[in-house]
Amino acid sequence: MEHFNMYIPTRAIFGVGELNNLHKQAMPGKRALVVISNGRSTRVNGYLDRLEEQLKLTGISYAVFDKVEANPLVGTVMAGGRTARENGCDMIVALGGGSVIDAAKAIAVVSTNDGDYWDYISGGTGKGRAVECRPLPVVAIPTTAGTGSETDSACVVTNDRTHEKTGFGHPSLYPVLAVIDPELMTTVPAAFTAYQGFDALFHSIEGYVSNRANPMSDMYAQTAIEHIARYLPMAVNDGNDLEARSHVAWGSYLSGVVMCVGGVTSQHSLEHAMSAYHQELPHGAGLVMISRAYFSHMIEVHACDERFVRMARAMGMADAAKPGDFIKALGKLQDTCGVADLKMSDYGISMEEAAAFACNARETMGRLFQLDRVQISEEDCIQIYRKSYK
Ligand SMILES: [Zn+2]
Repeated sequence: MEHFNMYIPTRAIFGVGELNNLHKQAMPGKRALVVISNGRSTRVNGYLDRLEEQLKLTGISYAVFDKVEANPLVGTVMAGGRTARENGCDMIVALGGGSVIDAAKAIAVVSTNDGDYWDYISGGTGKGRAVECRPLPVVAIPTTAGTGSETDSACVVTNDRTHEKTGFGHPSLYPVLAVIDPELMTTVPAAFTAYQGFDALFHSIEGYVSNRANPMSDMYAQTAIEHIARYLPMAVNDGNDLEARSHVAWGSYLSGVVMCVGGVTSQHSLEHAMSAYHQELPHGAGLVMISRAYFSHMIEVHACDERFVRMARAMGMADAAKPGDFIKALGKLQDTCGVADLKMSDYGISMEEAAAFACNARETMGRLFQLDRVQISEEDCIQIYRKSYK
């Protein structure tokens, strides 16, 4: 039996309508900074009202920080930290998608620690400063199913001055409580449901083919791959299908566990380089764009033949017999979910950027390359971008 190391201290409450039971949970503070996105959806859909009602029932006062953009920026994190300090907040409640939960974790760090958030980053131009004071406790309420940020201790923030998009992790950043209520996900548009669902799927796929895979991460990854592959097309097709939403949300949660007990591979570094330069590119869409070329490369170098066959089977191809069948299953799923023809050019990306992306991916998030079973070179990375370009 192989080794593994598992520590996930988050209390997870899962199920349709569970937001209404938030007031029954022990909360980690008395005054919350409620972090939401800079869009209108959290208010328009009534989610903020419902959260406020729950906080009032528990006697928690709060201030609202509504400035988080997709692919959150360092400046936003610093502004959130100032708002938390000015309002004397002793906890954070994140209500939103992965960007909101990630930004909330980063805000939790700078609310109690001095200096700039980027000082605490260890890759690229970060200074690798140690977190000295305990970050504020975070309660995570995801309104999307994709990042798994409600489960893990990491957050991804973009430095727009240096075009670096990278992760930061700390054991104290596991949310103390996660309320995963699929009802909050019914308003996500079809395209974003697909992007986010594929992000979750890739956390498990990459975890399954990484050299950190172990019996525990495999168990979560296999189940997540099966459920996401089966139910994501239904959730994309009918956003109000609560059964499908629930299975995808569960798969996303499980994929978050895979990241905690295993790890994602360099495909995530390659994508972060793209969205670091192109703020409007959704993370999941970027992953979809490069995925077939990336995994075709891993299959060509025989990274783990048998694992690709098993994943193809988990994705519904019962008679899969060779690693290449995984690419067929992946392509079919992308086709069914309407994302097979996503184009980099639609997001203003040009073919000439491939070399800069490859360099950025390795400099900013080089540590994920160490999780690949077969090392890929800078030239391989450039070829993956070129083959993916449309
Ligand atoms: Zn991801």
